[in-house]
Amino acid sequence: MPEHKTSALILDMKDFGETDRIVTFYTSNFGKLKGIAKGAKKSQRRFGAAMDLFSCVSLSFFSKEIHGLVMVNQCQIQQAFPSLHKDIIPMGYGSYMAELINEMTAERVEHQDIFEMLVQFFSLLDRFPPREEYLRIFEMRLLFALGYCPSLTRCVACKKELEKGKDFRFSISRGGVVCAFCSNNGKDEYSVSQGTLKLLQQAYILSIDKISRLIFSTQALAESREFLPRFIQYHLGKELKTSKFLKKMENDRF
Ligand SMILES: [Zn+2]
Repeated sequence: MPEHKTSALILDMKDFGETDRIVTFYTSNFGKLKGIAKGAKKSQRRFGAAMDLFSCVSLSFFSKEIHGLVMVNQCQIQQAFPSLHKDIIPMGYGSYMAELINEMTAERVEHQDIFEMLVQFFSLLDRFPPREEYLRIFEMRLLFALGYCPSLTRCVACKKELEKGKDFRFSISRGGVVCAFCSNNGKDEYSVSQGTLKLLQQAYILSIDKISRLIFSTQALAESREFLPRFIQYHLGKELKTSKFLKKMENDRF
């Protein structure tokens, strides 16, 4: 049975029976993978501390599948992100990012950019205090990487460049900004200012080391919070479990 090795992040983990675990990885070389780790609840030698949510591990697995699951042979810890386990906000943010990737990507489709992006954002949450901007920046970068990036510089309907000082709306179903002329004031349209659109464009252009310094205005946070998660939900056809939790967290905070 051929054995494969790759770096991987742990997106999700469930107990299975008395001793096993079913683990969802996002790997560097194979994209998303689901595997069964036999005896993971008991074997410290083969899995040890590596079997922890969000951890970056060196994974070895056998490709022979059992019910669509690869057989996990061994996991060794490469990088842990301890702050993601210490406080509810970084944990909530990390869980949202992991669930987004889990839901938006297909199994066994290699996408190195996405693996690297997730490592970078887990590191960011580990090193810096959590800020809501990270969620919006992550959403924009993921949409861009997967080819769903909304149109933010031209009206999606008439294709004209957006004029300064005018009112715009973000249309979920039309996939981007519409000018006042093309807006139908529909239920799926949300007001958006030019300042917010500029910040969202920077969110996927900026190099990762500058992200911790990108600050959204209160208005930009409020506007993007309204339509970006809904835009993602529209593509997924369902609401993420963690987004309900994040909403509750926001309500409790204000
Ligand atoms: Zn237009």
